[in-house]
Amino acid sequence: MHAMHRLCILGSTGSIGVSTLDVVARHPDRFQVYALSAHSRIEALAEQAWRTGARVVVVPDDAARARFMAAWPAGRRPPELRQGAQALADTAADPEVTAVMAAIVGAAGLPGALAAARAGKRVLLANKEALVAAGNLFMRAVREAGAELLPIDSEHNAIFQCLPRGAARAHAPADPAPGVRRLLLTASGGPFRRVALDQLEGVTPEQACAHPNWRMGRKISVDSATMLNKGLEVIEAHWLFSMPLQRIQVVIHPQSVVHSMVEYEDGSILAQLGQPDMRTPIAYGLGFPERIDSGVGLLELSRLGRLDFEEPDLLRFPCLRLSLDALGSGQAACIALNAANEIAVDGFLNGRIRYTQIPDIIERCLDDSVTRSGGDPGSLDDILALDAQTRRMAADLCHATD
Ligand code: NAD
Ligand code: MG
Repeated sequence: MHAMHRLCILGSTGSIGVSTLDVVARHPDRFQVYALSAHSRIEALAEQAWRTGARVVVVPDDAARARFMAAWPAGRRPPELRQGAQALADTAADPEVTAVMAAIVGAAGLPGALAAARAGKRVLLANKEALVAAGNLFMRAVREAGAELLPIDSEHNAIFQCLPRGAARAHAPADPAPGVRRLLLTASGGPFRRVALDQLEGVTPEQACAHPNWRMGRKISVDSATMLNKGLEVIEAHWLFSMPLQRIQVVIHPQSVVHSMVEYEDGSILAQLGQPDMRTPIAYGLGFPERIDSGVGLLELSRLGRLDFEEPDLLRFPCLRLSLDALGSGQAACIALNAANEIAVDGFLNGRIRYTQIPDIIERCLDDSVTRSGGDPGSLDDILALDAQTRRMAADLCHATD
């Protein structure tokens, strides 16, 4: 008999949130939706809440509360509405909740994910920026509270599935798994893998968001185009699996079918394959250690025909190089990398800067953080302060180029 999970879904209206609700709806005997949260698309949130019967909903402010109530069907009892960032973290730690899907985009998701870890929940971690900004703090919280951490990012979920059984027990390992030589992180190379370098300057947000294989939120889609996403994922893998940077290898694999691999000392490589559909890793995390239906169709290898692999080109993808540098420099640099990128990507999506300025802005902020850094920030407040400081600098750089 499996236990009934009571879920809190942070960022339920996003791409991961919607996929999570799709999997959950297939298993009413296993999962109950206790709480939902969103920052925008409040009408969609109201629709999700009445469809799932969520008991609690968290919105950012008064305006969102009013929109929620206006969208709520007349005559039906509304859920308990909670409001603001503190309520979000408190809800993730709510004693009623057994599992938290951390699917907010950006460092804004850190306090909620951390609260879930500190409360010892099962944490389904999609929000990679939380680990990039606070890897040390977050993993320590998982260990100390005995939380159960399940990586949802497809690469990390693949690696988790390919690790030796003992190592993949959903707790934060303090050392690399025995017998493992390297982690091989696959990357599609995004929409600009073959575009002439001198054309990159003129690419539009729509082109950058048109990922060849995955349908995702806009921020992560741009990150995939620049390959900063893969850089964030190297940092994420470093923390999740206690793996030194030198033992994490990025491999371009344009078909996005092999989701990542683990290379062992004896020469074996284990891979996890599947359709590029996030419902597979989400279902894995929800059902762990059992396998449950995700709604994802079978992968017909013979129809696929071939799988290609190549080395990433760091000249084409300077954001990947900057990420590896940041991990080498330490925690403060990783916070600056992520914060600068969030502002630069927003600037690009809103037409304020060009695509090729994204790495320039990140590099300026990284240089600044390395010269200024007085050691690694220890607490959540220190991390958020450094994050805010970098955001201000990156925003100034975006405006300077107007
Ligand atoms: P999205 O933009 O589609 O959704 C983000 C969600 O977070 C929305 O519900 C939004 O309302 C909420 N949100 C945004 N800003 C917020 C804030 N300041 N405070 C509170 N809530 C806020 O993003 P997504 O593509 O679903 O990605 C979510 C996370 O999962 C990201 O960290 C991303 O890197 C990671 N991830 C996504 C995919 C994917 O396929 N989409 C794959 C792997 C990892
Ligand atoms: Mg990924």
